[in-house]
Amino acid sequence: MMKNKENYSRMTESVLREIEAAGTCPSLLLHSCCAPCSSYVLEYLREYFYITVFYFNPNITPTEEYEKRREEELRLIDAYNRQVAEKSYGGMHSTGSAKPIRVMEAPYDASLFFEMAQGLETCPEGGERCFSCYRLRMEETARRAAAEGFDFFTTTLSISPLKNAPKINEIGAELERLYGVRFLRSDFKKRDGYKRSIELSHQFGLYRQNYCGCVFSERDAKTRGSAEEPAG
Ligand code: SF4
Repeated sequence: MMKNKENYSRMTESVLREIEAAGTCPSLLLHSCCAPCSSYVLEYLREYFYITVFYFNPNITPTEEYEKRREEELRLIDAYNRQVAEKSYGGMHSTGSAKPIRVMEAPYDASLFFEMAQGLETCPEGGERCFSCYRLRMEETARRAAAEGFDFFTTTLSISPLKNAPKINEIGAELERLYGVRFLRSDFKKRDGYKRSIELSHQFGLYRQNYCGCVFSERDAKTRGSAEEPAG
């Protein structure tokens, strides 16, 4: 049974203290769903890790939307790397030791998502289809992290108030055992993380979508008439 009482944000802090005490800078493969969600996570973690952003989101449709979100992600990383080169950064938790960020991309293949979603088309957002969607993207991240010798892997997904942080962390812990790479547990929305992601989105003029990503969430957003929604 899934535990709901874990304090994942405290677990992140504990790993960061461990890194500080060891005086090291491990490598982290960070799955990112979109620029707004990664904005705070990158600002926070770039002080402690050599981060490679893994942009792998076959859930996003249509292709134009995928490309738009991908381009925004690359634009944000470019802006952050310029800050590091010019030493012109700060941020909520800055210790003045931010590292440049690298990017790894997988080819866009929406069929991976549609295969996974078969039989789950009518699930409400936040249900079983979403759990499988988290796993699809997190498992590829863990697999790549293991293959390329990363020290840690994690995902930006827990920053969204609409995503299930206990489930994300449960999947991450399982993949950690399966692939032998440490999973950075997180609940990035906590400690004003989500609020900061909105501030950063405004600061960098980031495109904020009005649906999570898949065709089903787009349909649901139209029914709801929603304005902006964190990606997933
Ligand atoms: S609503 Fe979001 S998390 Fe859920 S299946 Fe669609 S894209 Fe994935």
